[in-house]
Amino acid sequence: MEQVLNYIQGDLRPALGQGWLDGHAPADGSVFAHIADSGAEDVDLAVKAATSALTGWIAMGRQGRHDALMHVAALVERDLELFAQAESRDNGKPVSLAREVDIPRAISNLRFFATAILHWSSEAHITDDVAVNYTDRQPVGVVGCISPWNLPLYLFTWKIAPALAAGCTVVAKPSEITPYTTHLLAERCIEAGFPPGVLNIVQGMGGKVGAAITAHPGIPAISFTGGTATGARIATTAAPMFKKLSLELGGKNAVLVFSDCDFERMVAETVRSSFSNQGQICLCGSRILVERSMYERFRETFVARVQKLRVGDPADASTDIGAVVSEAHMQKVLGHIELAKEEGGRILCGGERVELDGALAEGWYLAPTVIEGLGPACRTNQEEIFGPVVTIQPFDSEEEAVAMANGTVYGLASVVWTSDGSRMHRVARQLKSGIVWVNCWMLRDLRTPFGGMKQSGVGREGGEEALRFFTEAKNICIKI
Ligand code: NAD
Repeated sequence: MEQVLNYIQGDLRPALGQGWLDGHAPADGSVFAHIADSGAEDVDLAVKAATSALTGWIAMGRQGRHDALMHVAALVERDLELFAQAESRDNGKPVSLAREVDIPRAISNLRFFATAILHWSSEAHITDDVAVNYTDRQPVGVVGCISPWNLPLYLFTWKIAPALAAGCTVVAKPSEITPYTTHLLAERCIEAGFPPGVLNIVQGMGGKVGAAITAHPGIPAISFTGGTATGARIATTAAPMFKKLSLELGGKNAVLVFSDCDFERMVAETVRSSFSNQGQICLCGSRILVERSMYERFRETFVARVQKLRVGDPADASTDIGAVVSEAHMQKVLGHIELAKEEGGRILCGGERVELDGALAEGWYLAPTVIEGLGPACRTNQEEIFGPVVTIQPFDSEEEAVAMANGTVYGLASVVWTSDGSRMHRVARQLKSGIVWVNCWMLRDLRTPFGGMKQSGVGREGGEEALRFFTEAKNICIKI
């Protein structure tokens, strides 16, 4: 049995309480690893390590931190195939996706922020002939980074890279459901001679490790990505302690399809935006709104394409849809499909578990599911499902489409398909979401602000936004 250990003060070690959790492979339901089941005492040890490492890490300067991060990135790139296989086994995603998206983007995150810090500058404000003000941005200190299971290493590095580049030291917690690649990362940090204590990874359950990070008085800032309910719990603990908080939460993203769009491109991308990573990407479009004049054509073409997607072994290069992340999550998604039926939804395709043969018979597979016949207010169109399930709804006017898109408590991402240049801007500006993609999806530039409105989050990640979050701005005013 493989072990997923804590990485504290530069060493790999089990939890102080010696407890273990099971690590499952979604492809076949087997247990392949034991994960350190850590607690508050492990977090405390990690905070002590991060606190002692802080002064030395800052003293290494931007160039030193850049070099250290680039070294780790190079080792991950050297072992890209190993990381991709591991991510696929731990999460159930097709290995092709891990190889082409997850791991390359994790490497890009490390390199992007390693380099960004070299170019980052701060502001000065000249107050007539009276004074010079300049903004000094110093690292916040020891920060907590808590990440989810859907894009495990990708979102983990999206947080730790800017924190480390900015000069913070880190106590990080990956999801207990998909921790394996962070263990591999820790091994690469040791190989690279990364300074001990600068990055600490504490494995284990959210209610124990995550809660201990959130409540720890030695951690003044928390960067969290995960569900909205967990975000609310974290905010409840952190707010009275006046911690800085960055919360990237759930979504119920709308795709607005206008009849003047490039139909072929739109359908191909909408299949992708619906079902990539088994629909388990916070940015997936789960409510597809289609202008009525194109609705029938869209429904026929879209459903036919979705039915062609191959659900199968994540290790097989021809697989489009792998396993969902856990048995509990599969049951949750199936529960949502039952709810949709009770609400009067018609299942156009999918709607059930897929049982594969042989060694994969116990795996957690779901058929990509398209549902129609539900209004915008029903629970199916309001609650995040986070699986391979989308609804389609017709609309009659631009105003109605915008109102439907905005009509949930979430506001993470939206997608607009149109060839009308004026409409692109008009609609994009009215959508209440932190990200709007026009005629594309998941096209990412790491310099852009990333995050959600309403219950999809607080704050922004990406580029300078992330570097600002991990630093405190101090204005220094000098009288001339
Ligand atoms: P989750 O909220 O269950 O868990 C996320 C992380 O928080 C895990 O590491 C977990 O162990 C930890 N955690 C759980 N309880 C905690 C607590 N009480 N205190 C502190 N930490 C705790 O989310 P998940 O199921 O891992 O991920 C799916 C969710 O994440 C979906 O809602 C999805 O939309 C969201 N997500 C959002 C983004 C974004 O950028 N907005 C990106 C990816 C995923």
